[in-house]
Parts: sequence; C-alpha cells; structure tokens
Amino acid sequence: MSAAAQASDGKQAPSAGNGGEESLAGIAAEVRACAKCPLHELRNNAVPGEGNPSADLVFVGEAPGADEDRQGRPFVGRAGQLLTDIIVKGMKMTREQVFICNVLKCRPPDNRTPGPDEVFHCEPYLIRQLQLIRPKVICALGGVAAQTLLKSEATVGSLRGKWHNYHGIPLRVTYHPAYLLRSPGEKAKAWLDIQEVMKLLAGQIPPPF
Ligand code: URA
Repeated sequence: MSAAAQASDGKQAPSAGNGGEESLAGIAAEVRACAKCPLHELRNNAVPGEGNPSADLVFVGEAPGADEDRQGRPFVGRAGQLLTDIIVKGMKMTREQVFICNVLKCRPPDNRTPGPDEVFHCEPYLIRQLQLIRPKVICALGGVAAQTLLKSEATVGSLRGKWHNYHGIPLRVTYHPAYLLRSPGEKAKAWLDIQEVMKLLAGQIPPPF
C-alpha cells in the first residue's frame, strides 16, 4: 500500500475515484460536476460542504436550501445563522474550526425531504468526506442526517441522548436548526446534546467506545 493510501492513524484511506489522492477539494470538484440525479438540473450551485479538513467536529445537515443553493455554501440562511450561533456563542468555536456539510449536496425543489434515490446517489460523497476527515465527533442535525448515517428509521427524539458508533467515530444526534426555529421550546434539549459533544471534544468524558 502506498504511503498516501495509509492514513497516519493506521486506517486505510479511501481511494479517489479518479485514481489520484483523495482530497476534500477533489470531492468538492466531483460534487460540482455531479449529474447522478435530476437535482443537478435545478441547482444554481452544488453545496459540497466547507470548513477545516482536520476538524475534530463535523456537522451533517439534510440538504441545501435556497440561500445555500444561491451561495454554494452550507447553512448560510436562517437555520444556518442558528447553527453559527450554536458554534460561536454556545461552543465558543468558529465555523472555520469545524466542518459543515449535508447528506444531499443539491437543493431539493421547495426544500422537500430528500428522496431515497437522491440519498443513494449523494451519500457516497458524504461517506468519503467523513472517512477523509475522520473527526473525533459527528453531530447529525435532524432526522434525515441521523437516519442516513445510522441506517435507522427511528425519530430524532429516540436517537438523541446517547452516543452512536459511526464506523468507529462517536456520533451524537440533535434537532435540526430549522426545526428549532419552529419549535424554540426544544432548544434546551439541543443544548444538552451540544454540551455532550463539547465534553467529549474537551476530554471531559471518556470515549464512549
Ligand atoms: N438546512 C440544511 O440541512 N442544510 C443547509 O445547508 C441549510 C439548511
């Protein structure tokens, strides 16, 4: 195995589809050129994700909305402002320190829930991003992210409150910021979830597995 294919932690790095070395920039370029599902015909911009390639924490949302489609960046609309507040005001971190992406990289029309075919075609990009970053923690925002990553049909309410194992990476589920805007009474629960993420990042609780 080449040195490039051997990650420093001894885990095998994923191989790039184009035969070159896998990188987040390479995945982003593939996403921007992707025509695997009909959503590509409707997009202004694909939204591959952004942030620190060595992030300890990755947030995974559902799919770009209108603002994200316009800018080609994740979580930049109203829900994005709430996520930014959680990161900056709550976690005392910056967006640049973490990595932020979505299950779908293109906007579904009228922000409808992603269909199974769309997830089927798009999830491999997310899997490759997560394999490459291998963060200390993944935070799944909302049901689509949680159910896709955990291969579960359970609700956010039943998936939150505990650690899940995503291929060896601790994963925490919390409510989607768009849901929190509609249901501000649930913000306290989301804050409990985020505090658990912070404790694990700070080494204040033992690794869950
Ligand atoms: N909602 C998401 O799930 N992702 C975004 O990028 C924006 C809103």
